[in-house]
Amino acid sequence: MILPPQIKKQFPVFENSGREKNGVTIPFVYLDSAATAQKPQNVIDAMTRHMTHNYASVHRGVYELSARASVAYEGTRQHLARFISPSLSADEVIFTRGTTDGLNTLAASLGEALIDEDSRIVLTVTEHHANLIPWQQLALRKNCEIAYIPLVGKLGNDLRIDMNAAAKVITPNTKIVAFAHVGNVLGQVNPVAELAALAKKVGAAVIIDAAQSISCFDDDLFALGADAIVFGAHKLYGPSGVGAMAVRKKYLSKMEPVVFGGAMIADVSLDGATWADAPARFEAGTPPMTEVAGFDAAIQWLNEVGRDKIHAHASRLATKFSDGLRQIPHIEIYSPSTGIETVVSFRHTKVHAHDLATFLDSHNVAMRAGHQCAWPLVKSLGVDALVRASFAAYNVEQDVERALKAIQDAATYF
Ligand code: PMP
Repeated sequence: MILPPQIKKQFPVFENSGREKNGVTIPFVYLDSAATAQKPQNVIDAMTRHMTHNYASVHRGVYELSARASVAYEGTRQHLARFISPSLSADEVIFTRGTTDGLNTLAASLGEALIDEDSRIVLTVTEHHANLIPWQQLALRKNCEIAYIPLVGKLGNDLRIDMNAAAKVITPNTKIVAFAHVGNVLGQVNPVAELAALAKKVGAAVIIDAAQSISCFDDDLFALGADAIVFGAHKLYGPSGVGAMAVRKKYLSKMEPVVFGGAMIADVSLDGATWADAPARFEAGTPPMTEVAGFDAAIQWLNEVGRDKIHAHASRLATKFSDGLRQIPHIEIYSPSTGIETVVSFRHTKVHAHDLATFLDSHNVAMRAGHQCAWPLVKSLGVDALVRASFAAYNVEQDVERALKAIQDAATYF
């Protein structure tokens, strides 16, 4: 194994989620980290410590506790800038409520600045609803067009973004190209540098949804051509309710705030207001301070374990799982068969995805079933639901074996 199985011990949920059956404890197998990752003890401790020792309003109080809280909060922003890209400065990093919030802000703010009725927005057909609906809403407001890069290749084999089509879809009037680094359904890795190069040729902004990749890819997305990236902390072993939106100054300077209130202003009178500079102008209201403390601890944990190691570890387990699935009759795998990352989507042709996932739960195995917030993609694959197994740092070989055995048992049961 690339990561030692002891890593699991750092995650208390596994101690607490065994299920008693006939006097025997069935351990918890968690294969839904693509939805949200479990939390290591250091993140839990950091959040507890924040509330017991360091809790006060940031950027407002003149007292010592508030000053200390502000220093820690801004310290996390610096750690995040370093974590994302050495080329990024801390004031290009904005705290959000998560990936969805970041993408909505970009669509409402950067979209508002860049898009008019002659513009085109380019997405891929694989996007999560969070990277689809905000752009659709913008296109409706602006009366502009959206064009989609299709897939090419064989399902379960080499299905991928069609780069020949991308070159045609990204036309001179394209102002924004937005896509996921790693797809949440198929787990395909999209060619960031190539897509960014096509976008740059026509002067379009490149926006990357890094929700699925940030916990296990340490690529510098800005060096590959990104102008903005978004992700949430909860998929990288941190808390929910907080995330980051990193935007190059060139674009940040064009962005108007979309949420108004305290902390984001330069001056206010009864006649109107002016805005503070970024990042404050995008952080109205009391921020998620305890969550930011947990975010900081999660980055520290990831840096210590190594995202490259987590990637190799999870990918190895996903490959083993996929190989095992291929031996089970009536299983159709939708993820690519080579270069398997951390996600394997599949279905049983005789057992509905929801029935299968419910049966797996009776064996204390947690997997996602459904359209996986990418309804257009799943529908285009000709199904209404898939089962998705996703792997993370705390998974072990036995998880793969238990999951495969439970899937085999399901086929007998139904
Ligand atoms: N984009 C992708 C690729 C995702 O996987 C997810 C989470 N499933 C999101 C966006 C939305 O993230 P959140 O729900 O944390 O805002």
